Amino acid sequence: MSGSSRINIPRIRWSDCASRRFLIAAVVATYFMVCHATGQAGETTVVIECCNLFDSASGTMLPEQTIVMSGSQIIYAAGIDDVPDIPADATRIDGRGKFALPGLIDAHVHVVHVLDFAHVTGDEVLPLYLAAGVTSIRSTGDEVVAATLVARFAAAHPEFCPRVFTCSPLLDADPPIHRDVGRAVTDPTRVPELFDELERWNITTVKIYAGTSRPVGRAIIEESHRRGLFVTAHLGNYSAQDAVADGVDGLEHIWSVFNYVIPPEVTSQSGHRGQLDLNNPLCDALVAELAQRRTCVDPTLAVFRNMILLPDVPEVHDHPDNALVPKRLREFWPVYLQRTGCPQGGSLEDRRREFAKYQELTGKLYRAGVPLLVGTDSPEPQVTPGFAMHQELEMLVASGLPPAAVLTAATLTNATVLREEARLGSISAGKTADILLLTRNPLDDIRHTRSIELVIHHGLICRPDELLKKVPSE
Ligand SMILES: [Zn+2]
Repeated sequence: MSGSSRINIPRIRWSDCASRRFLIAAVVATYFMVCHATGQAGETTVVIECCNLFDSASGTMLPEQTIVMSGSQIIYAAGIDDVPDIPADATRIDGRGKFALPGLIDAHVHVVHVLDFAHVTGDEVLPLYLAAGVTSIRSTGDEVVAATLVARFAAAHPEFCPRVFTCSPLLDADPPIHRDVGRAVTDPTRVPELFDELERWNITTVKIYAGTSRPVGRAIIEESHRRGLFVTAHLGNYSAQDAVADGVDGLEHIWSVFNYVIPPEVTSQSGHRGQLDLNNPLCDALVAELAQRRTCVDPTLAVFRNMILLPDVPEVHDHPDNALVPKRLREFWPVYLQRTGCPQGGSLEDRRREFAKYQELTGKLYRAGVPLLVGTDSPEPQVTPGFAMHQELEMLVASGLPPAAVLTAATLTNATVLREEARLGSISAGKTADILLLTRNPLDDIRHTRSIELVIHHGLICRPDELLKKVPSE
């Protein structure tokens, strides 16, 4: 009995519909191919009965829980004793032996950058995210008009796209490092004027990029806070110590910490990055400051392993996830690796040691109480949209984080930096119905986050295998 699956999805009742022709054109062509609507009008009820539920607030797996969804909302998520009356025509899903997880949120992606060079548009890869259980994504630097179009497309197609939160372009020096998605900002006094424009695009995140000077960076942080925007940084010229002192909310990539904890006397030694003593005073002081100020760090280990340091090792190069992206993107990845000079960092042994140091630093940040985000930097080379999230979860566990902490970071903490914690990030009454139903317990082994039977996004039941068919192969 346990482990058996009873998924009973109702057929659309023809008699309820004013126009059969409309149904054939609009519903069959879209939902029947990919998802079954569960009540866009807010009338249809879906129930997952007697499942295990991951509570992202406490980091625990609660047994024998029932989840009731009406339209796109969760209206009940608790024990079986107080379940509200369920309409007779509700979709009932047998959750016995299954594990419900809040929809994953990828805190670092691009929906234009890299794709543009490969002649792929953001909408083409969006179904990959949902197929992997990533129900929301945070752009961290894209051309704002194109990114807004991708976000609007995603909002119009919740049955095969995740929710997309947009970001400013990469605010950088002149000329910007990435000319496709960068914006030169050199005069701190003109920052408010720039924000007047950005605010009209309804962005969620502001991103400082590597060429930015401290005076401009400080002006961007102050203006972001005046307008209630989360400001994050991929650092270069502006040091982590200065950016953190100036009040930046988040740091992107483990480099934005690692590069600022190397004592000057060791930088000239070859292979020094892989042999760095992370218990040095510079590192201890920065980590303590990050923890004290609650500055978020988004390590994005996937991009460092898969693109920067170890793109040529077989377990990365031949990873089955890579085969899921359109051929145009897959064939562009080696071109982009060459263009960006990857792999970086010397011999294979040096590069492996350096990556191990990034993981060691990630573990140290966690133990010190620094809030960690979970992002991937998809679709950089060999960082497959959606599926790289599972690789990132694994690497975070290998860095010393408990699986429950990793899952809380990938759901509730990521929702918090989007200022969406009232709507996303946990399975509780009043929140949006973004839920993964797994067949295996991710607290026993984090790789079990891949055992996805169903993805429920915005109340719509989606099947991963059908979603993958939406991604162009060429
Ligand atoms: Zn990025």
